[in-house]
Amino acid sequence: MERKNVWEQYEEEEITRVLKLAERYREFISEGKTERECVKLAVRMAEEKGYQRLEDAVREGKTLKTGDKVYGVHRGKLVCLFQIGEEPMERGMNILGAHIDSPRLDIKQNPLYEDGETALLETHYYGGIKKYQWAAIPLALHGVVAKKDGSVAEITVGEKENDPVVGISDLLIHLSGEQMQKKAAVVVEGENLNIIVGSRPLKGEEEPGKEEKEKIKKGILKLLEENYGIEEEDFLSAELEAVPAGAARDFGLDKSMVMGYGQDDRICAFTSLMAMLEAETPRYTSVCLLTDKEEIGSVGATGMHSRYFENMTAEVMALTGHYSELMLRRCLQNCHMLSSDVSAAFDPGYAGAFEKKNSAYLGHGMVFNKYTGSRGKSGSNDANAEYIGSLRRIMDEAGVFWQTAELGKVDQGGGGTIAYIAANYGMDVIDSGVALLNMHCPWEVSSKADIYEAYKGYKAFLNASWEK
Ligand code: MN
Ligand code: MN
Repeated sequence: MERKNVWEQYEEEEITRVLKLAERYREFISEGKTERECVKLAVRMAEEKGYQRLEDAVREGKTLKTGDKVYGVHRGKLVCLFQIGEEPMERGMNILGAHIDSPRLDIKQNPLYEDGETALLETHYYGGIKKYQWAAIPLALHGVVAKKDGSVAEITVGEKENDPVVGISDLLIHLSGEQMQKKAAVVVEGENLNIIVGSRPLKGEEEPGKEEKEKIKKGILKLLEENYGIEEEDFLSAELEAVPAGAARDFGLDKSMVMGYGQDDRICAFTSLMAMLEAETPRYTSVCLLTDKEEIGSVGATGMHSRYFENMTAEVMALTGHYSELMLRRCLQNCHMLSSDVSAAFDPGYAGAFEKKNSAYLGHGMVFNKYTGSRGKSGSNDANAEYIGSLRRIMDEAGVFWQTAELGKVDQGGGGTIAYIAANYGMDVIDSGVALLNMHCPWEVSSKADIYEAYKGYKAFLNASWEK
């Protein structure tokens, strides 16, 4: 049962491929820091590989045949790619699923105020975070502002070298006697995650004889008007996300790892997408589904609970000329899916939280989790043994290095993914993915070897045949 460190198994030329893929990955997560940005990137990459937008195929009345490629985007935050296989869709599809939303601080709807000679933005955190980690680090603002006239301004500040960054202050250690006694959960409280965006009063625009108030806030408003054409009320219909500023970096003196924001779960999204885009015509129709809202329960129109995926499958089936309600039900139930999300890598600094024999390790390859959940596997998909048996064969035949794991010790905590939602159709689903250190922290860490093995594993999965 001993699993080896995969770096030791590589020949020199394979290491070149590992490093090359990691470089593309660093670029991907540096450019895609929100779900919307990841969708745009995925669409660009898909179109380069000959994917056509579903709506266009429908409008043109196209008939999809083996090898054809289509994609759909929902509300700008979810993207789903299909490549038609040799078998009728009724016999099932091979699905790669991952999520492209990550923990962050969302700007509130009425955010801007002035206090203590600074202008600040109120935030509401999204997903599970240790709030204290978000103070005193450089943050960037990414997002959209939808105006009443229907136009949408896109905003990104804090990523280019000459861009300013913004951030949340922390109390100096000299005055922190009281704060240091608090529990970590409340050292920095959610309502105090306010982002400083300015400190310079607007000058020379006062009406004569009148003392102007909130001049720093007004300075920021003027700047927003000039740079983006937006006014204060436009925040009401904006989606602005504060994320750690800056690009992903190589991590470790040996450069064997990547440190970057949002690797949960863009590490699985990127590797799934790359596998999908490079796939040859498969036996079973291939799908790569990059979904939103996983970090808050997969709810909403762009989350996995939405009917979008089912609807798109119906549309694609109809375009192949073989569609009925019953055929759609059969298609969904006959699917095989890798629900990919990150795993916790064994952390020697916190060894007590893990059970060593059933933990994922950096550099031990792609991870399979039979189940996730909390306490007595609550909320878990718990994949079928027969399905795992087939996957062992597929991965071993393709020379993929893989490991199995669960999230920490029994009763230590837990987590969920999108696996159980897809399993509602009756399909075979298993949790898989890549192990991270610092999961859900502003800067997460992954192993370049694991990125490569996941990519290899996804490719092997898309080519898999199932005996039926
Ligand atoms: Mn995740
Ligand atoms: Mn997560």
